[in-house]
Amino acid sequence: GPALLFVKTGQGREEGRRFYACSACRDRKDCNFFQWEDEKVSQTRLAAREEYNRSHQPSFTHRQNVERYKNFVQLPLSKRRFCQECQQLLLPAEWEKHSDHQFLCDISTAQLKSPSQLLYPLENKKTNAQYLFADRSCQFLLNLLIDLGFRRVLCVGTPRLHELIQLKASQEDFRVRSLLLDIDFRYSQFYTEDEFCHYNMFNHYFFGGEAAHETCRKFLYEDNGERVIMVTDPPFGGLVEALASSFKKLMAMWKETGKEGHNNKEMPVFWIFPYFFESRILDFFPSFNMMDYQVDYDNHALYKHGKTGRRQSPVRIFTNLTPSMIVLPVEEGYRFCTICQRYVSSGNQHCEICNSCTSKDGRRWKHCDLCKKCVKPSWFHCNNCNCCALQTHSCEKTDAGCFVCGKAGHKRSACPSLSHT
Ligand code: SAH
Ligand code: ZN
Ligand code: ZN
Ligand code: ZN
Ligand code: ZN
Repeated sequence: GPALLFVKTGQGREEGRRFYACSACRDRKDCNFFQWEDEKVSQTRLAAREEYNRSHQPSFTHRQNVERYKNFVQLPLSKRRFCQECQQLLLPAEWEKHSDHQFLCDISTAQLKSPSQLLYPLENKKTNAQYLFADRSCQFLLNLLIDLGFRRVLCVGTPRLHELIQLKASQEDFRVRSLLLDIDFRYSQFYTEDEFCHYNMFNHYFFGGEAAHETCRKFLYEDNGERVIMVTDPPFGGLVEALASSFKKLMAMWKETGKEGHNNKEMPVFWIFPYFFESRILDFFPSFNMMDYQVDYDNHALYKHGKTGRRQSPVRIFTNLTPSMIVLPVEEGYRFCTICQRYVSSGNQHCEICNSCTSKDGRRWKHCDLCKKCVKPSWFHCNNCNCCALQTHSCEKTDAGCFVCGKAGHKRSACPSLSHT
């Protein structure tokens, strides 16, 4: 889909110059598309680009994959193979071509219903950054959505939540439905066109064209009073403004489907993202609030429960629903603050001066009278900088600050909030 327009920052001759680059790949190694805003592109280069794009299409279309799946499930267990190298379900006629690839045998129906377990997570940090919900967090999310009365979930980059919903819907009398929008085309092997759309959330691009658009629109249309919520968990390195712009378009799509534009209401949203992006998200969505719930991941070294107890996850839920409705599990240590009218972490103490439960990371924060706000427990007021900081900080930071967390002293690439190992 369309590239995004960026601007060069930093020192140098080209500072301020604008250029187009790939919206989805933040690493040049994944996609090297680059074009100055005012650049004239020759016919030859345009043709070469088109040729490149043609030759990099997936080997099967979504439609073909749906047909292949139908054939695959007809096969006896002994003939059901999955190529781990190509990340593809294989039909017997194709075995030959993949003979020197690693493959899995006897793919069961249960495995087909849990593609997020079968496919390996695309962990390349800058493009897919696929970090899957721990079961506990996924179950919590689904139960919360059900308790809130939602019957449809638009899963944007949340394949595991989608999978859980699909699984339950196929097993029991379960009324919740879901549609997955994700850039990971491997999922088209397991879901029909009504269950999955190949989608880029950085530029709101549906690879399936108008038909896919229509699928999404239909899904958002709330007939028989079935309420819709969107749940998204984008890559944390992603640009907040690009994401926000796409989410606004999805929200507008929902609005257009409602009678009288849903009377100025907003489509309910859960945006799952690290707490240090709070101010960025609120810039774009002033109606959102950050919840204290810590979202845990399976394949994330930092963000999951260790065997030895809780490791703190920085990932939170941002939502435009009324905070008091978001009930957090008491057995995991959350409690209700009657003054703030929301559930908070057990360590999050209500500050009488700020008149709110101020901790962002679950630890108990302390109030600084000079800063007139609560700060992290490890911080001290520095008279030089005239604000609170780590005791080991270097004063008079002239740095512009990290692009990701806004803190000085390191660049985006070295941001401690993004390190995964
Ligand atoms: N925790 C979620 C997965 C979040 S990981 C779960 O368990 O369901 C981020 C997800 O966003 C991945 O599924 C990834 O494929 C998807 N993604 C990454 N870049 C994307 C893009 N540009 N557009 C749409 N989806 C994207
Ligand atoms: Zn193969
Ligand atoms: Zn409080
Ligand atoms: Zn305070
Ligand atoms: Zn201070």
